[in-house]
Amino acid sequence: MNESDTLAIIKPDAFGSGKSGRIIAHLEAAGFQVVAARVSRLSRTEAEAFYAVHRVRPFFGSLVEFMTSGPCMPLLLRRADAVPHLRQVIGATDPAEADEGTVRALYAESKERNAIHASDSPENSDIEIAFFFTGAERLQG
Ligand code: ATP
Ligand code: MG
Repeated sequence: MNESDTLAIIKPDAFGSGKSGRIIAHLEAAGFQVVAARVSRLSRTEAEAFYAVHRVRPFFGSLVEFMTSGPCMPLLLRRADAVPHLRQVIGATDPAEADEGTVRALYAESKERNAIHASDSPENSDIEIAFFFTGAERLQG
């Protein structure tokens, strides 16, 4: 487990409305290095697999529709204590509850269309980074 790496995804709402540059600038200002980045249109199978932990939740179908609705931008981010720090920087799931100045308070549209994903534990960040990036990409930076 690498405590310095985490995965973010700039979600289709934010990527499609031209907010990715501002969000990346915000993350860099918060001390994150962008080690690797992609632009990816998730297939239904990929979105269902990525959010499999939520498959019994009532919002799962809508979440998969949203995440496959357009391109998104997975980012491999690095800094000390990456997972808890990124969760703090993105803010609460619902932008109405997110602290002022967080990415979701600034850029999210709604609880579902909330601009950015972040891994919720170092164990999950390892799994999620491997979902999008190769071992060679992880060694960069
Ligand atoms: P993420 O995993 O994307 O970083 P999160 O950890 O803050 O978000 P989760 O509970 O893991 O929140 O939910 C995953 C995603 O599902 C949310 O980011 C949001 O897009 C969507 N979601 C969660 N709860 C709801 C809800 N009640 N209604 C609609 N969409 C929801
Ligand atoms: Mg989550």
